[in-house]
Amino acid sequence: MDSLRVLRYALAEGRLMFRDRQALEHHAKRLSTRQLRWVAAHSPFTAQRFRQAGLPPSEWRHLPPTGKTEMMTHFDALNTEGVRLEDVLRVARRAEDSRNFTPTVTGRSGALTVGLSTGTSGMQGAFLVGREDRLRWAGVVLRHLLPDWPGGLWRPHRVAFLLRAEGGLYRSVQGRRLHFHFLDLLRPLDQLVAELSALNPTILVGPPSVLLALLQAGATARPQRVVSVAEVLDDEDAHALTVGFGPVVQVYQATEGLLALPCPHGELHLNEAHLHFDLEPLPDGLMRPVVTDLRRRAQPIIRHRLDDLLLLGDACSCGLAARRVLRVVGRQDDALELPSQDRSGRVVVWPDFLRGALARITGLHDYRLDQCGPHELRLQLSPLTAETEALAVQAVQVALRLHGVDVAAVQFECGPLVAEAPGVKRRRVRRTWRAA
Ligand SMILES: [Zn+2]
Repeated sequence: MDSLRVLRYALAEGRLMFRDRQALEHHAKRLSTRQLRWVAAHSPFTAQRFRQAGLPPSEWRHLPPTGKTEMMTHFDALNTEGVRLEDVLRVARRAEDSRNFTPTVTGRSGALTVGLSTGTSGMQGAFLVGREDRLRWAGVVLRHLLPDWPGGLWRPHRVAFLLRAEGGLYRSVQGRRLHFHFLDLLRPLDQLVAELSALNPTILVGPPSVLLALLQAGATARPQRVVSVAEVLDDEDAHALTVGFGPVVQVYQATEGLLALPCPHGELHLNEAHLHFDLEPLPDGLMRPVVTDLRRRAQPIIRHRLDDLLLLGDACSCGLAARRVLRVVGRQDDALELPSQDRSGRVVVWPDFLRGALARITGLHDYRLDQCGPHELRLQLSPLTAETEALAVQAVQVALRLHGVDVAAVQFECGPLVAEAPGVKRRRVRRTWRAA
């Protein structure tokens, strides 16, 4: 029965891939009216937000945004299933420890899938997904990711997921012709390489850092489609994966929802048929999204500000009306903050610019850049040679100077690249220092 519902959602999704912007907005408005009325009546925390702002649910677009901290602090009153955070955390952690990923808690509507987000700083996020939300998610993903829709439905597909914690979510799509294989990231690399090569999946899904590590360790596979998830996909990595495995597309998913999906032309589009995006402009053309999920009910996401920054592109050649994401620039709290040339204060430098500068250095295979103090940058380089060190420092200095940073005041510390713990989300550029 579940696979029939997934198929129904996948077929319905075809009608939601609007080519007319007005039709898309009309559809989203209709969903939002119903969703906001329901959520305000069933989520005590959301009702309280409306009361505090003195707004009726119809005025939801004026609601002051919340963030991950509030979402976790008010988890018990935010969800509409009467589930407590402590129960979710207990179940999810036990599942991660035992590497047995079918964690559920029981809410008002029945069994709910739970999971933890791989937060690298600050508070760990927990998510809660109801049955209907899960089946719809599976249908939407299926419709957008199957390379040969709809014929692909009748051909056998082997889908390999390389994930830290598979989560019950991905199980939903299991069908007669779709075979899902979960390769646990915490297993030794040589075992993963052997398994992936033997499986030779038609669709390969995983974080780009892991897919690259497998490629470099000798994995062979010729999938029809490589799907990058969970991390920012750099152009250089996309290129290496295309050459090594096959065509790469990106899915942008977070605890907050399925935010963007690839189109038939391989570009990333906001998932505007199911989520509403308000965009807050920042310097350098960047946008910070405030999202409202127009469907999700167990854990409503209403005017929720994301950590990530986006750069949006012009209309896409595929003709879809949903806006195109040129790149997911990364988390705002990873932006460097360095002293300015005119000594007036501090300058913000987005990770994307530094990734761009470091990616162009010939002979440098990989790197990490961390702002570990008010004036201190730590560079980890692979390989670390006198030449890569000189070129890397110079490239970063040029990028910083362009942004108006007082480069003479910035100290560099260089060392060899230290491997990250398995399963840790990779961020090549980050700021671990926090102003007091
Ligand atoms: Zn497109």
